[in-house]
Amino acid sequence: MGRARKFLCALLAAALLTGCAPGGGETTGPKSTEPVRHGLEERLADYAQLGQSPDDNYRTWYEIFVGSFCDADGDGIGDLQGAISKLDYLQELGVNGIWLMPIHPSTTYHKYNVDDYYAIDPSYGTMEDFDALMEACRERDIHVILDLVVNHSGYENPWFQEAADYLKALPDDQTPDPAACPYVEYYHFRKEGQSMTGAYRRLAGTDYYYEAQFDPNMPDLNWDSQAMRQSVAEVMAFWLDKGVAGFRVDAAKEFYTGNISGNVEVLSWLQDTAESLKSDVYMVAEVWESNYAIIQEYYESGFTSIFNYPYGNGAGNTAGVLLRTVNGRGNANVVGKWATAVATTDAAYAQANPDYIDAAFLTNHDVLRISNSVGGDPARIKLAGALNLFMGGSAFIYYGEEIGMNMGTTVDDPSKRAPMCWSGGWVEGMTNIPPGCTLPSGYPLGGVEEQRADEYSVLNYYREAIAIRNALPMIARGDNTVESALDQGCVSALRKDWNGQECIILTNVQEEAARVDLSAYDQWDLVASLTVDEGMVTMEGQTLTMPPFAIAILIPHS
Ligand code: CA
Repeated sequence: MGRARKFLCALLAAALLTGCAPGGGETTGPKSTEPVRHGLEERLADYAQLGQSPDDNYRTWYEIFVGSFCDADGDGIGDLQGAISKLDYLQELGVNGIWLMPIHPSTTYHKYNVDDYYAIDPSYGTMEDFDALMEACRERDIHVILDLVVNHSGYENPWFQEAADYLKALPDDQTPDPAACPYVEYYHFRKEGQSMTGAYRRLAGTDYYYEAQFDPNMPDLNWDSQAMRQSVAEVMAFWLDKGVAGFRVDAAKEFYTGNISGNVEVLSWLQDTAESLKSDVYMVAEVWESNYAIIQEYYESGFTSIFNYPYGNGAGNTAGVLLRTVNGRGNANVVGKWATAVATTDAAYAQANPDYIDAAFLTNHDVLRISNSVGGDPARIKLAGALNLFMGGSAFIYYGEEIGMNMGTTVDDPSKRAPMCWSGGWVEGMTNIPPGCTLPSGYPLGGVEEQRADEYSVLNYYREAIAIRNALPMIARGDNTVESALDQGCVSALRKDWNGQECIILTNVQEEAARVDLSAYDQWDLVASLTVDEGMVTMEGQTLTMPPFAIAILIPHS
């Protein structure tokens, strides 16, 4: 492992030779085992020299709830100009994609009931603001995807209102006629007494009921209607023409509730239609299922990405593989299975769709924040973030996750969408809390302002992890297999191969240090390491020592 030590020493040479060892004071000369590390910015520069990710759809995406992100005009509601003002921050973090939760006119704070698919909610700004956001993102090579909420529309959407007005005026003895009102077939209207499945709600002033799986305010769209599909295609064309990179498709399990093959057909249609409009479009769907075999079934659609719910915090806030791993408390039967789990699902999804891009996420706007799932432990918050970023495919970060932001004890949706904590105190841009949101009693890890200044903060850990992900393109793009010889006890060894470029990611998922014998790996170099505190990954002879929750990455000699 001579080369590996040489490389590590090269990485550390500047600090060693200039006597800048941590702890201050003069140094008496380097020893090979002495833990010495660069400052963060120097390490980031080292990673930048290693490589650069290609310009493709394997990106590090950042999910923004605009209303709680940053307020530019001082009315307390986050807006598009606020998001523009934080693009420098996102660039510094290293993300190169943004998923905007719904931005269209809506009667709710969350805006998942879209009342006009072609406009911007006035509380968020104007179409000019949106165009400015797109231009600013283009300059930074940040791709933008929009939430495409087409399982249902809003109740106030003109599509639904025109259909409702038509039915209210329709004589009792007449059958609805799409030739008279095309929108009447955009939804599932049934008369009382007819067979009904799912959640049907009474349409006021009529004998009709309409399907609304989630809420009376969200009437379900009818995917049997070719006219409705054409309208969805026009919505996609409008926003792709505005420069968006693609869409995050909401609630794909409910297009045909309880009918997987029906939903798979809709996803195929959405993918094909989007690709016909933009050949390199990026599509990612929400299929809220904790069983990976069902996700695999949905990948038969040929859809690019489906959120990997079996790994993220999931239904009913149950823990996915990511969370079970970091909370495994040294149980090798749990934490040591990380690489095996990733390799298994990767193979299963790729079998269904060889062109799939995994869509890993730790948390989102529907589930508990990570801090609340790991007892506020910064080490576990960090490691969970790195596992998410390193498992492969696209990686999604929910706003605030990169600072380990916590939520109040009330487990409801508004509390999961609390204002982004730009500072522990109030600073310009911070938003009011959404209606119904309960805040935590405090933010023990601080906000962005405080964490920027602390080299060992969650924020700076994320910056380093994303820099490593960007520097080694096989991390996101490689096929995952288990490196069995190194996959021992609480150390997981995930091997990645992309176009002949390989790496091995070693992760020590326990509260104790681990020693790894690398004598059989003298053709490999240690190129990157990530630790949750001041501790360092070190090499002595052919033995790698990993502090608790540390990650070490090896690549073959070039
Ligand atoms: Ca505002």
